[in-house]
Amino acid sequence: MTVRTLESPFKVGIIGGGVAGATAALKMATLGIETCLFEANNSLLNGPPICHLHAGGNLYPTLPLEQCFSLLEQSIYTARAFPFALNERPTLIAVPQEDKNCPTRITERLSLLTEHYRTLIEKDPLNEVLGDPDIYFSVYTQEKLLELSQCSTPKSPKTPDEWMIPVAKSISLEKFKYPLFLVQEYGLSLFRLGAMASIALDETPYSRILLNHRVTGLKETKGGWWIESVDTKGASFVQQVDFLINAAGYLSGVLDDFASRPRKRCLEYKAAYLAAWDVHGFWPEVIVHGERGTARGMSQFSPYEKGLVQLHGMTKDITLFDGGLVRNEEQSAQPILPQSLESKINKKWTPSDISERTQKAIYHFSQWLPEFDGATLAGKPLCGVQQIPGDDPDLRSVEASFDGERYARIEVVKASSALQAIENILDYSKNKGWIDLPETWRTPEMPLILDLEKAAVIKKAKQMAKERDYPEALALPYPAKEAL
Ligand SMILES: Cc1cc2nc3c(=O)[nH]c(=O)nc-3n(C[C@H](O)[C@H](O)[C@H](O)COP(=O)(O)OP(=O)(O)OC[C@H]3O[C@@H](n4cnc5c(N)ncnc54)[C@H](O)[C@@H]3O)c2cc1C
Repeated sequence: MTVRTLESPFKVGIIGGGVAGATAALKMATLGIETCLFEANNSLLNGPPICHLHAGGNLYPTLPLEQCFSLLEQSIYTARAFPFALNERPTLIAVPQEDKNCPTRITERLSLLTEHYRTLIEKDPLNEVLGDPDIYFSVYTQEKLLELSQCSTPKSPKTPDEWMIPVAKSISLEKFKYPLFLVQEYGLSLFRLGAMASIALDETPYSRILLNHRVTGLKETKGGWWIESVDTKGASFVQQVDFLINAAGYLSGVLDDFASRPRKRCLEYKAAYLAAWDVHGFWPEVIVHGERGTARGMSQFSPYEKGLVQLHGMTKDITLFDGGLVRNEEQSAQPILPQSLESKINKKWTPSDISERTQKAIYHFSQWLPEFDGATLAGKPLCGVQQIPGDDPDLRSVEASFDGERYARIEVVKASSALQAIENILDYSKNKGWIDLPETWRTPEMPLILDLEKAAVIKKAKQMAKERDYPEALALPYPAKEAL
């Protein structure tokens, strides 16, 4: 057994190399704090998908305003920290005729979000990453859409109206309540985030990344923790750290059990699907609201380069699964998913399952866009288990949680909360007198990320998509800047 000891004065162990753990390692490296990150997999950010930034929480009509505000703030800081990961296209929000919700509520919420965005820009002009606050959202009546449907589709849309032209030409206008809303809600690329994290963490001397290392035990000592791990060849290692961050995603409960830290949490297994469509012009993201879990559940259409579209449908036979939402029992912090979903966790789907659910996703969206029923299967599903700390499955925006003096968890529901959570841990460690931080430590920009070359990031992102057997288009910026 090899015993490793880091040499810096304050050593942090991070378990999990998803967006939570990788962001923690990056932020700490930026501040000269040494970390040792354990990742059971062979690469970083190889967990469940990430495609929306969630700047304002507009996908969730019933999300409390406080959570919308904090998602807006967290998304802005994430966009500043990881500029190459953004897909800078707006999102259309539509309420169907049969939905019980009224668009007026959306107008009110978007107006409050715009004011909040303005306040954030007044505090720091660098926060203006979602475009001019005057057009954070635009409203569209049916008459206006009819007018736009007569215009020719622009090659490179710049204004909200230009983005709406291909939509106005093709969606079933009579199926919606008015107005519709075009919001500056951007996409976030898992692959480009993963590429940035991998390149930057490889280069920094402050972070030791142990890929293919599964943590198998934790021992609490007076001044910290011993972390036990096993690599893929069966060799075991022990690492001593002063502070431990549990960022193990949906397996955080296993680590909580190792650490004897009881915790309530929910897990939800979900999947998104990939379709190829003969697309005309650039499209915004399109979200059609609907009651979750019913046949009318929300539809999400996320466009990528080369006619690739990612689809969610919040019904039990598309994105959601029977028995897919579970809570832990008292004896363990780790909730247990039904056997039928266990094999799907590791992305092992049968070809017929893939084809059937993708077809249902295409059909679900084509109720709003009839010509989309000609779309075809374009790859395996993007799927995984979403963790939700506590027992409120509607929670979206989170902070770090602390349990005992030297143990914290980063259990993000949305990727954009990761930066906030590591700030909580840094604040805590500073107050404990364990670390010194410069005055500017909250600045979201991290030089080790900003110094990266965009082309190198895209190249690495494409390689990651290929290795994971996903279409390259998922890794490309959308819309491609050269096209605009
Ligand atoms: C279908 C779907 C769509 C989604 N879409 C979005 C979206 O659009 N936007 C968004 O923000 N979020 C989205 N999410 C949620 C998002 O994917 C998660 O919130 C996020 O990936 C969680 O990141 P994480 O770092 O906490 O966990 P993970 O990415 O799961 O990382 C945890 C890591 O810990 C490692 N690990 C676990 N146990 C051990 C151990 N014992 N030893 C060593 N390593 C270990 C795992 O291998 C894993 O790599 C979606 C989720 C799903 C399921």
